[in-house]
Amino acid sequence: MIKVFNPADGTCVGEAPEMNAAEVKAAIDRTCNAFPAWSRKLAKERGDILRRWFELVRDDRHVFAEIMVRENGKCLAEALGEIDYGLGFIEWYAEEARRVYGDTIPSHAPNAAVMVMKEPAGPTAAITPWNFPFMMITRKVATALAAGCTMIIKPSEETPLTAYKLLDYARKAGIPEGVFEMVTGNPQEIGALFTGDDRIRKISFTGSTAVGKLLAAASGRALKKMTLELGGNAPFIVFDDADFDEAVAGLVAAKLRNSGQVCISPNRIYVQDGIYDRFVAAVVERASQLRVDQGLQQEFVVGPLINQSGFDKVVQLVDDAKRRGAAVLLGGKPHAKGGLFYQPTVLADLNDDMQIAHTEIFGPVFPFYRFSSEDEVVNRSNNTEYGLVAYAYTRDVGRAFRLSRNIEAGMVILNSGSVGTASVPFGGVKHSGYGREGSHYGIDEYIEVKYVLMDGLGR
Ligand code: NAD
Repeated sequence: MIKVFNPADGTCVGEAPEMNAAEVKAAIDRTCNAFPAWSRKLAKERGDILRRWFELVRDDRHVFAEIMVRENGKCLAEALGEIDYGLGFIEWYAEEARRVYGDTIPSHAPNAAVMVMKEPAGPTAAITPWNFPFMMITRKVATALAAGCTMIIKPSEETPLTAYKLLDYARKAGIPEGVFEMVTGNPQEIGALFTGDDRIRKISFTGSTAVGKLLAAASGRALKKMTLELGGNAPFIVFDDADFDEAVAGLVAAKLRNSGQVCISPNRIYVQDGIYDRFVAAVVERASQLRVDQGLQQEFVVGPLINQSGFDKVVQLVDDAKRRGAAVLLGGKPHAKGGLFYQPTVLADLNDDMQIAHTEIFGPVFPFYRFSSEDEVVNRSNNTEYGLVAYAYTRDVGRAFRLSRNIEAGMVILNSGSVGTASVPFGGVKHSGYGREGSHYGIDEYIEVKYVLMDGLGR
């Protein structure tokens, strides 16, 4: 069995099966065998079952939230927020199942008709990370099932308890064996079984860019469709003319979500000369009031980091920045609580040569950079291999529009620190991956387009 630990105190909070190759293969077989019947169900029937799943989980959202606090470390308020966000995908795709419309195209031949049919891609597989143990699963499974695909998921071995709970509720809602399967064990071995099986027609992966590239290479050999939601290095740009208080609030909320362990977390905060000092001071003041603690309480708290390697990475990035001249205005070291808790930290006067400018931090660290002009900050924002999201605060409409065109990212968020919801296309460009999740674009990832020519119809 795989033991699951609470990052807040290191206690064991549960176990998940450590499946061997034969067990994983059997689950893949079930996923593939269930496809014909599931794909032929009426779209409304698929939608109704998803709706039932949504309702059952919604009614027990507190059960899920407590599991998430224990295995992930995020606080209760955030766990509930993630559940509502994640439930939104089940609800949205329960409805969207009925809206996978095909097309007719004016015929190029005299006695013919041209149709475009949309068909489910086939049996699919997904691999998910630990930072959103609930939403990452609903976002993929609900979309696949709505489209008529079946799906086998390998959740993160750090947070499998939420995942298996979701599976339980799916069964209660009437999602049959095979239509939604789950496996846990050796990630590399399971990944190889997914990518190596020709019957699996699509793989959706959320996780690090390094692992995404490995899976893309392996999937490429079998020409599978892929969706890759990978790492980020989000710029958060605040211009002199920004609504100051809104920008501070938006930044603090976005940065501290999940203690900074989010792919869309502001990773480079660029503030324009005119307000730089005042803005940094306001963030220091706000961040210094935050409480750091385990999360099983009503109050918002900054939680622990997920594991020792995540913790060591934050320590190392901050230490490197300090050595190269960063000003530490708040925190800057592990928290006195010990374990995996790190102090909310504000670093100022950073430069683009520091490791922290090029690496996903994944911790409660606010890294500030000063800039002067729009051109300069756009160039610096784009100077990264990643392209997931960019945030900017400005009240100049022309500039807001230029930014939305000139920034290389899958998502540009203007005057807000909040990105996701079920009705919008989430995803990145460059080394942040490809494909979109959410919205009607998300379901296209699970669809094959079939062109049908019907000739010889007569006049
Ligand atoms: P990770 O890549 O280490 O792990 C992600 C998943 O892949 C886990 O389930 C893990 O068990 C599995 N895995 C690891 N090695 C594997 C292999 N060789 N073959 C198959 N599967 C393998 O990432 P993580 O540490 O769990 O998550 C953090 C990363 O995820 C960050 O880089 C973050 O930016 C990214 N992320 C991206 C998004 C997005 O939507 N773009 C969202 C959340 C997290």
